[in-house]
Amino acid sequence: MSRTMADAQLPNRVDAVKLVKVNQRLNAEIEQKNLARLNETVVRCIEPVTCEIEFTQATDKQRLMQGSCRTSVVMICQRCLEEVTYPISSEFQIGLVFDDEQASQLPRYLEPVELDENGQLDLWTVVEDEVLLALPMFPTHAEDECQAKVVTQEPEAETQNSSDERPNPFAALAKLKQ
Ligand SMILES: [Zn+2]
Repeated sequence: MSRTMADAQLPNRVDAVKLVKVNQRLNAEIEQKNLARLNETVVRCIEPVTCEIEFTQATDKQRLMQGSCRTSVVMICQRCLEEVTYPISSEFQIGLVFDDEQASQLPRYLEPVELDENGQLDLWTVVEDEVLLALPMFPTHAEDECQAKVVTQEPEAETQNSSDERPNPFAALAKLKQ
């Protein structure tokens, strides 16, 4: 992927069918204030989400949207409860579909995203989902930067058992899918 400076705002709604047809590449940003679910999930998002996205048609007529996005967020360290800054990045390979049947025919490595009947896609929502999924489940400082003097529990064990606290990003996703 090229590292061109992103200076354009990523469009929110796009005609995905058309973008696939012209093999469109988008290098652009989403201002973090536009991502309400992300802002609810983290203490704050401190950078615009930079996106590099390419729309392509696979040889088997499959419409693809692939690329990456990255940003930085502040979360609460689960050891010392102070703020910790995390760089977040995600790569995605998405199969653009019109219905569940098309989704079920996708190869496993493609994540299905449904277009509306006019082929429109809400790009911000897709990118926000990717950022939410990339957030760490158990945010902590690096050991030498953490304020917590004594680690009394194995973090691994806690991660396994804290299913009540974990699903923050996924709860947001579940809401979306209702
Ligand atoms: Zn800490």
